[in-house]
Amino acid sequence: MQTGSIGVKTENIFPVIKKFLYSENEIFLREIVSNAVDATNKLKTLASAGEFKGELGDLTVKVEIDKQKKTLTIRDNGIGMTSDEVDKYINQIAFSGATEFVEKFKTQTEAEAANIIGHFGLGFYSSFMVSNKVALISKSFRQAEDEKGVIWECDGSPEYTMNEIPKGNRGTDVILYISDDCADFLEESKIRELLNKYCKFLSVPIQFGTKNVEEIVEGETDEEGKPKTKTVEKPWIINDVAPLWKKSPSSIEDKEYDDFYHVLYPMNFETPLFHIHLNVDYPFNLTGILYFPKIKNRYEFQRNKIQLYCNEVFVTDSVDGILPEFLTMLHGVIDSPDIPLNVSRSFLQNDQNVKKISGYITKKVAEKLEELFKKDRAEYEKKWDDISVFIEYGMIADPKFFERAEKFMLLKDTEGKYYTLEEYKKQIEENQKNKDGRLVYLYATNADEQYSNIENAKSKGYNVLLLDGILDAHFISTLEQKYGDCQFARVDSASIDKLIEKEEESKESKLNDEQKETVKKAFEEIIDKTSFNVEFSNLNETDAPVEVIQNEFMRRMKEMSAMNGMSMWGGMPDSYTLMLNANNPVIAGLVDKNEEEQKNTIKQLYDLARLSKNLLKGKDLNEFVKRSFNEI
Ligand code: ADP
Repeated sequence: MQTGSIGVKTENIFPVIKKFLYSENEIFLREIVSNAVDATNKLKTLASAGEFKGELGDLTVKVEIDKQKKTLTIRDNGIGMTSDEVDKYINQIAFSGATEFVEKFKTQTEAEAANIIGHFGLGFYSSFMVSNKVALISKSFRQAEDEKGVIWECDGSPEYTMNEIPKGNRGTDVILYISDDCADFLEESKIRELLNKYCKFLSVPIQFGTKNVEEIVEGETDEEGKPKTKTVEKPWIINDVAPLWKKSPSSIEDKEYDDFYHVLYPMNFETPLFHIHLNVDYPFNLTGILYFPKIKNRYEFQRNKIQLYCNEVFVTDSVDGILPEFLTMLHGVIDSPDIPLNVSRSFLQNDQNVKKISGYITKKVAEKLEELFKKDRAEYEKKWDDISVFIEYGMIADPKFFERAEKFMLLKDTEGKYYTLEEYKKQIEENQKNKDGRLVYLYATNADEQYSNIENAKSKGYNVLLLDGILDAHFISTLEQKYGDCQFARVDSASIDKLIEKEEESKESKLNDEQKETVKKAFEEIIDKTSFNVEFSNLNETDAPVEVIQNEFMRRMKEMSAMNGMSMWGGMPDSYTLMLNANNPVIAGLVDKNEEEQKNTIKQLYDLARLSKNLLKGKDLNEFVKRSFNEI
């Protein structure tokens, strides 16, 4: 028998592990099971290299609960360890890591610490987070059948014992004596949940419990002549789906990608729009599949859906700092042994490898989108309304992505026609400039509400875009900044002739300044001055007498801050301008009317202007309708 004290300066390791890692204590299972899988894969490698010539046999890793004994056991038939190896790998190496861990831990926050544990070769010792005693029984594949195995036991103090023990087959059993305060880890449902979370795609079968399946009994039929079935208890294999991202993209059908999406997100019934298969081995190793999900409304705009794996072991689904932020809205898996997954987030964000990986993924996503666009534009246009939000987000957030996406970013006009940025520029270049020579991109955010303005703009030969996406206000501000020589204006943000001035305005006005002042005052007696102010334009006689316009800048600020959840602008009331056309006979004629007539006309003008913008509501609307009935 050997007894010993593990490593130096380690008296404090268990309290640290227990106390600080408590909130994430479930990762112990991931660590122990992946050790078992590693040991099994090592044996397979040795076998294929001809170094192991024996029978591989059944390599299933088995997880078992014994409620009576309060133990959780993980068994493998992998390479196993001799007693010297246990001494070397469990007693010595792990604990040199432990000392380093304790040092490093002092500077980490609690949440970050949970992931560090594997990084320092402490995986095995994470079992002490949930156990008051751990036993490891092992026998190496090198040992003869009649040789004894080794049992290592430790109760969480730095003292351990090692003894010989009879053991027939090679491999390792790790037996965790679960502490009373962690009794959930003796619940079948809990362990199944954790195995599903962390071990679903491991490359060696993991068996936990059994399940009942109906099987046909050969040659027997029931009264109706149907084949007889019987219930059979079968081992329950957790990881019965292969990690699709490891397969070569050329051998995978589209349907397999869709099916795999539903394995990853069983609660998500929508089929993804398309996928991108990532596969790189230089200068770093990374595989994965990203899906563009179908987002129906802004509430589904959720992040942290991408699952990160390290050699098929689930690590986290919080990918901030690893992926560019705009891609965190995608779904899928990323698997890389090269992302230092076990270190702190702040470290990750500054890690050169991570930066490269993040840049690579952005590039890959852009390439795929460009390919889809070039290959089948009609199909791409069909998807556009669903994917535009991702692309706009990317272009707003990432200058590199902006450059790439310029080629496949689309604008849609109110007729439903799609243009690339370049095509659209060509479309309006001749006709839509303001007096400073800037291109004016006219747009509507709601084709119904802004119907009259859209029609008016079209009748003058202008094109109107439809920008009704949730990020459009941000996006057009980005475009204005980048391009400098253009300006986006909603069709109702000023009268159209003001937005696109062909020549210097030199039109005569039918009203002089004094008359305008009188008319303005008369309006102000009637209108709601907190929301409306009055201005004059000198349009044509035939243009509408009054128009409601809303300042572009103010409206956009309001929209953007509402989106960001800021109250500064968002809380402000909407403000509109009543633009009176001084050359329209109805407006020009107001000065000749008596007070009563003037009031009635102004009321009618004000109501009609609001009605055309869906701003006439409640009492005012009711009165307007009554008045109109009386006039029939
Ligand atoms: P890591 O897995 O990060 O190296 P661990 O503390 O989890 O750190 O394990 C330490 C070492 O113990 C492993 O590298 C391996 O050599 C050995 N080991 C652990 N579990 C097993 C197992 N089930 N079978 C064989 N060797 C194992």
